[in-house]
Amino acid sequence: MTTDIKSIDTDALQHKIARKPSLVWDKIDPAERNDVFELADSYKTFLDISKTEREAVRHIRDAAVKHGFQDVDAEGAGGKYYKIFRNKCIGMAVTGSTPLVQGSRLVAAHIDSPRLDLKQNPLYQDLELAFFKTHYYGGIRKYQWLARPLALHGTVITSEGKQLELTIGESSDDPVFTIADLLPHLSRRLQDGKKLSEAFEGEKLNLIIGSIPVGDPDLKERVKLGILHYLNTRFGMVEEDFVSAEIEVVPADKARNVGFDESLIGAYGQDDRICAFTALQALTTTETPHFTAVALFFDKEEIGSDGSTGAKSRFMEDFFSDLLVKTGANADERSLRKCLMNSFALSADVNAAMDPDFQEVHEKRNAARLGHGICLTKYTGSGGKSGSSDANAEYLGKIRRLFNEKKVAWQTGQLGKVDQGGGGTIAKFLAAYGMEILDCGPAILSMHSPFEIAAKTDLYMTLKAYQAFYASRMQ
Ligand code: MN
Ligand code: MN
Repeated sequence: MTTDIKSIDTDALQHKIARKPSLVWDKIDPAERNDVFELADSYKTFLDISKTEREAVRHIRDAAVKHGFQDVDAEGAGGKYYKIFRNKCIGMAVTGSTPLVQGSRLVAAHIDSPRLDLKQNPLYQDLELAFFKTHYYGGIRKYQWLARPLALHGTVITSEGKQLELTIGESSDDPVFTIADLLPHLSRRLQDGKKLSEAFEGEKLNLIIGSIPVGDPDLKERVKLGILHYLNTRFGMVEEDFVSAEIEVVPADKARNVGFDESLIGAYGQDDRICAFTALQALTTTETPHFTAVALFFDKEEIGSDGSTGAKSRFMEDFFSDLLVKTGANADERSLRKCLMNSFALSADVNAAMDPDFQEVHEKRNAARLGHGICLTKYTGSGGKSGSSDANAEYLGKIRRLFNEKKVAWQTGQLGKVDQGGGGTIAKFLAAYGMEILDCGPAILSMHSPFEIAAKTDLYMTLKAYQAFYASRMQ
């Protein structure tokens, strides 16, 4: 068969058949513009009060209680439940009209972010300054943590077993802390010729915490003693208390609008609290769903999802068996397995947006773009997709149809060029249970930096996407 190539309707090809990326701003109803900015304001507040996994758990629990969720271990069966484990991860659920064993609709995010942790023996003096030794947590570019205001957030268990919660550096009257950087005048031999990975050392990420000495000038480590005196009078702490403490060093700044048009959000910890926030908002606005709607907020993603509060733990199984019991179902091993296997999940995590200044690390036809809506990432991993769960085409087909139907602006994304590097999410740990799962979250710039950038339109579309997912009856 031959076709007259000139008779082909190229206009239809261009506009109906070919796929064209488009900005959310060109797609949304003008009436929604206000909603985009309003949602961003409550998101910024959430970021400011949830800089650590423990703080995020507290605020998610408060929001849950406010919306009528009850502790799943408490008496009664109101249909809305939450479960906290070790103060570092939390699950929430709204039970559906369909028996849970037929599957849930699950959105799973993580609430830990890259940071510096205090070591167990952090306090020391060098020259005339007192310091805390730190150990970085997650993937950081070390130089980004130098010469900037930092805050301390943490929990200390004293020798009497008392629990102290500390936050220092967030209120405008609070002092902040900082790590000094080498001046450019003297960096030539030590740093300038080195590879970036060698120029900045983990053991030099030492936090300046004070400089006033106490006692007699002949006394040793007088500044360190001054800090101990302060910690003891202000918090009742002794030096050994650091052994049973988790104190995290995070950027002291608040979330800000970025750009003349205030269209972007700049803040620490948007990976992955942008997904945690939208999952929370979506679930608290979900009423009487067909399938049980669940949100899980995991810890430890940034260090491989290990530990009792990470996605590799048994927390999810435990929460789901509680939910089976609450809904009057059999909670035996087989029912739990069926319930998880029949579930549809979104691994709610961020992808990297194509960076205009570093386009060479992205493959531009497949990279996610800022402001183009929520990003569907079929697979993550590195090299030949190593370490990825690779979502099923059938499932992508369902999600794509749902989002198109509900006018959710979406795009696809791949984390960098093939063989450029790579990364992973929690998708593979949940996929092990047999559920359908797809990475699905906004794309951000400057990921893992102290000031990550997200587009307000992408935040808005992420919420719409999770709401559509919870409300859907797709099977
Ligand atoms: Mn993440
Ligand atoms: Mn991350």
